[in-house]
Amino acid sequence: MMKTDNRKINFGAGPATLPIEVLQLAANAVLDFDGRGISILELPHRGKEFNAIIEESKLIVRELCQLDDNYEVLWLQGGGRQQFCMVPMNFLDQNGTAGYVDSGHWSSEAMKYAGHYGNAAVIASSKNTGYNRLPNLPDVLPKGLAYIHFTTNNTIYGTQLQDIPLSGSPLVADMSSDIFSCNRDHSKYDLFYAAAQKNIGIAGIGLVVLRREMLEKQVRTLPPMFDYKENVRENSVLNTANVFGIYTSLLMLRWIKSKGIDNIEKENIAKAALLYNAIDNNSSFLPYVNEKSHRSNMNVCFNARNIEIENRFLQLCREQNITGVKGHRLVGGFRVSLYNAITLDSVKILTQIINSISLLSIEYKLFIKF
Ligand code: PMP
Repeated sequence: MMKTDNRKINFGAGPATLPIEVLQLAANAVLDFDGRGISILELPHRGKEFNAIIEESKLIVRELCQLDDNYEVLWLQGGGRQQFCMVPMNFLDQNGTAGYVDSGHWSSEAMKYAGHYGNAAVIASSKNTGYNRLPNLPDVLPKGLAYIHFTTNNTIYGTQLQDIPLSGSPLVADMSSDIFSCNRDHSKYDLFYAAAQKNIGIAGIGLVVLRREMLEKQVRTLPPMFDYKENVRENSVLNTANVFGIYTSLLMLRWIKSKGIDNIEKENIAKAALLYNAIDNNSSFLPYVNEKSHRSNMNVCFNARNIEIENRFLQLCREQNITGVKGHRLVGGFRVSLYNAITLDSVKILTQIINSISLLSIEYKLFIKF
């Protein structure tokens, strides 16, 4: 068994912590894949063993999303950002318009990429409040757009969409930081994608799920690597696929399936409630997102009232072998990511640290010092 005594509790936003069972299986496969006398790192991408990995992963993705085989499942390189490019490359005509819901850094990045291929229009934005809340969405989304793009969870600012309005245009979603973390009606989306390094594996690859009809909506001829239709035709092995990355995602999918999305959702709600409660009830800390119904269960962002509290919190985290709590450079403060592989026990350790810090005691110590 893998030695884990010095393993840190990693609340980082991604590459994120993976379950120890999955790491163990991935490590075993690096030495010997499935007792076949060959490492997963040496496994041919067009062989029958890898084909079985791809097919099982597609089955589990469809099962977890409750989608039938009218949806194609792809594993592509380039993580999330490659999808920022591929979506407009495939579906946004130079004279067409795509709508973007601007709920944070990643959605505005996606919109910038789209601007290279056509018009990218903001449908709703929360930029003017520093993205500390979700944008106000219309009851019905506009018709006639090439597509409307959402980011379901804002990894940097800590907001999460619970539901989306009805739409007359195809819906596209970046689910990089909350895929398979909760029950969601995936059939509302015509295409959704996720960088793997948070809830479903390691960095550098992206999962894409798209309704087959979308393949008919392609607006330009593209080099095959950026063409969804070609990637579907080649069953995700157009290039030499990232065999190890995709295998790790399969291990994650099996792990998610064995726990069940219902249980995962319950656990994620409990973890987030515990942490937000500790922050809300401690005047030493300030949550970044005040509107409770806009808060993310995946990324919890908050600040310390002053630098002494900030330093104390970081010191206590180090003492407890906790890492990855610093906020994104755009926001500062702290960000604690509670992806599926984070246990309730780990969150309890963190909340004990928060509870042990009190503004009064730190001010009192400072007062004594002077
Ligand atoms: N979308 C979201 C919501 C993200 O959180 C990230 C990365 N943190 C990305 C896209 C970009 O992913 P990648 O770095 O794999 O391109």
